[in-house]
Amino acid sequence: MSRALLVTGGAGFIGSSFVRLALASDPSAVVVTLDKLTYAGNRESLADLAGETRHVFVQGDIGDGALLEQLFRDHAFAAVVHFAAESHVDRSIDSPEEFLATNVLGTFRLLECARRQRRAGFRFLQVSTDEVYGSLGPAAPGFAETHAYQPNSPYSASKAGADHLARAYFHTYDLAVLTTNCSNNYGPRQFPEKLIPLVLLNALAGRPLPIYGDGQNVRDWLYVEDHCHAILRVLEAGRPGEVYNIGGSCELTNLTLVGELCTTLDRLTPRADGASYCEQIKFVADRPGHDRRYSIDHAKITSELGWQPRETLASGMEKTVRWYLENQAWCEAVTRNAKYRLERLGALPAG
Ligand code: NAD
Repeated sequence: MSRALLVTGGAGFIGSSFVRLALASDPSAVVVTLDKLTYAGNRESLADLAGETRHVFVQGDIGDGALLEQLFRDHAFAAVVHFAAESHVDRSIDSPEEFLATNVLGTFRLLECARRQRRAGFRFLQVSTDEVYGSLGPAAPGFAETHAYQPNSPYSASKAGADHLARAYFHTYDLAVLTTNCSNNYGPRQFPEKLIPLVLLNALAGRPLPIYGDGQNVRDWLYVEDHCHAILRVLEAGRPGEVYNIGGSCELTNLTLVGELCTTLDRLTPRADGASYCEQIKFVADRPGHDRRYSIDHAKITSELGWQPRETLASGMEKTVRWYLENQAWCEAVTRNAKYRLERLGALPAG
């Protein structure tokens, strides 16, 4: 018998990687991708699955209760893996309302439908972020699952709201909710407003490489496929009601990260003048309320479920850079489709 999964936000960066992994790792899996195709979602990110009969793409909003009811009736889902979100902190500062509509209200609609339509053994995986825990001092231990929620941006506050709802549906309605909180991801198919693809594409175009503030904000970096393997593991073997933190044990300042990226580019596609891409780095005014440091303690998922990151920063960065170099057409398509402006970060000429 086939096992149907509903993957929300499956045309986005992490969701598209997860859809591929879910189909590849279980020949009986049928994956229904529900995605609104906002500026961040792209059919091109799933183009290689065009002939895959076990994949169904539905363009729609997680806030559309009638559509959700229909999908649950048609497919009798064994699980929902919920990625769909507004995900860019800068956008949440400029216009927070969309974040509440999708991240909070949309998650509520999905939980509501799941609780009413679930079949035996159903599981709901809430994909969340380390940003809900707030900011750490330089020497503080990494976020454990017991760390208090202290969100500082409209984005992280909206994700925190969604996590709390998911938790409440476990306690109140006995819905088998699992929550994962992951650190910063990098890898193929990330929309070019986020730090790594933004810097990479600017470097190749000879534009400045914008770094916020003094470049000393610290993030913990994880290759996207490692994140997806962790989610699959939690989906299969995690305990309902539990939270699992996922991270790469790879804390770097933004300046060091961009330096690593430039060094990889210098090796794979040297500048014509022989200089390093590092020369294009330009510090720009800091983001308001910019969290200083995130760090994840992933001991729980490692000891309970045996998950570990497979990629190092060097191997993951090499894969990422090679993918962008070989997929310029994807970059052109997604930026052409997108109604967005990057001139704020100096990525595109203002106009
Ligand atoms: P993304 O912005 O690349 O993709 C989000 C996807 O959701 C897009 O395809 C978009 O079209 C879709 N979407 C948005 N609103 C929708 C709606 N109302 N209905 C249906 N679809 C909608 O984001 P991402 O980086 O892939 O992140 C996916 C999830 O993982 C998010 O929940 C995010 O909070 C979480 N997360 C991301 C990171 C990271 O580093 N990117 C780290 C930890 C957790």
